Amino acid sequence: MEILVTGGLGYIGSHTVVELLNNGFDVVIVDDLSNTERFVLNNIEEITGRKPAFYPFDLKRRDLLRQVFEAHNIQGCINFAAYKAVGESQVIPLDYYENNLFSLINILQEFRERGLSNFIFSSSCTVYGQADHMPIDENTPQKPAESTYGKTKQMGEEILQDFARAYHRKVSLLRYFNPIGAHPSGKLGELPIGVPNNLVPYVMQTAAGIREKLNIWGNDYDTPDGTPVRDYIYVVDLAKAHVAALQKLLDSGEGTQVDIYNLGTGKGSSVLEVVQAFEKANGVKVPYQICERRAGDITIAYANADKAERELGWKSDTPLEEALRTVWQWQKYLEKRKKETV
Ligand code: UDP
Repeated sequence: MEILVTGGLGYIGSHTVVELLNNGFDVVIVDDLSNTERFVLNNIEEITGRKPAFYPFDLKRRDLLRQVFEAHNIQGCINFAAYKAVGESQVIPLDYYENNLFSLINILQEFRERGLSNFIFSSSCTVYGQADHMPIDENTPQKPAESTYGKTKQMGEEILQDFARAYHRKVSLLRYFNPIGAHPSGKLGELPIGVPNNLVPYVMQTAAGIREKLNIWGNDYDTPDGTPVRDYIYVVDLAKAHVAALQKLLDSGEGTQVDIYNLGTGKGSSVLEVVQAFEKANGVKVPYQICERRAGDITIAYANADKAERELGWKSDTPLEEALRTVWQWQKYLEKRKKETV
C-alpha cells in the first residue's frame, strides 16, 4: 500500500518513513529539500534496505503533485512538509501561511477529487498555549496561538476538521510535544541548518564546541528550578505513533472520523535537567549562561498521552538520557561526514 509522506526527508518525516517501510508500507516522498539534504534518502535506504519513491518539488506546485497521484496508487498521506521556526514565522508570516497552508490545501484537493481518505497532520502542543492545568489532555481548552507558526497549526487543524466533515473522510491530528533525539543507527537526525532555535540541537552544538555557550532563556519561572518545563519525546517513539495512527484510520470503516492525539511522554523536564541529563549520558560538558526570558516562551507544558495509549496501543517510554545519547552519536556522524565530504 502506497502512502504519501510530504517532508519525508525532514527530521520527523525521515524517522517516520523508516517505520513505515519497516512495517511493510510503500512510501512516496515529496520534499523540496528546503530544510534537509538528499543524503537522507540514501540513509533511509541503508537502514531499511528499501527505496522509497522520491519527488523533489514544492507542494505549492499542484501540477506536479497531480502527476504523483497519477503515477501511484496512494491510499493515505502523512503531511510533514511545513516551515517550523517560531521566531522566523513572526518576521515572514505570509511565507508561513503560504507554505504551510497552500501545500496542505493542494494535497487535500487531490484527496477530495480522487475520493481518498486517511490523512495525518503534524500538529503541535502549541495549540494549547500556556494551559491552566497540567498535564495537558486533548480536551484542554486551546488559546489563540501567539506565533504565526502556531496559527498555521491551528488553522491546519480547522481545515482538516472541515475536510473530514464536508467530504466524509478520515483524518488524524497529532499534537507533538517536544521531539528530540536521532535514529539509533546514527544515520538520521535533525540537520543543523543555521543557528539552532530548539534546545537540544543547541545543547548538542555547544557540547561539540560549535557554540561557545548555551543561552538559557530565563531561570525565574515558577518551576522547581526556575527554568521552563517541557515534555521531550524521543523521535523514534513519535515516528511509531504515526504508523499506529495510520493503521487505525485504515482499519476503521468509511465515513467522517477525526482522531486527535497528544504525543508526549507525560513527564516534564526543565531546561537544566535536560542539560544535566545530556552531560551525564554523554560524559561531556555543556557550558551555559542564564539570560533574559525569550519572548513568547511559556512556563510549563507536558502531556497526558493516555488517549494515544488507550486507542493506539502506543506509549513513549524511551528515557531522556537514552534519547540524548543518540543526539551525541548523531553529532559524531555529522562530524565524520563533514570530514569525508571536504
Ligand atoms: N531554550 C533555551 N535555550 C535555547 C533554546 C531553548 O533555554 O537555546 C529553552 C526555551 O526557553 C524553552 C525550552 O528550552 O523553555 C524548549 O525550547 P524549544 O525552542 O526547544 O521548544 P519550545 O517548547 O519553545 O517550542
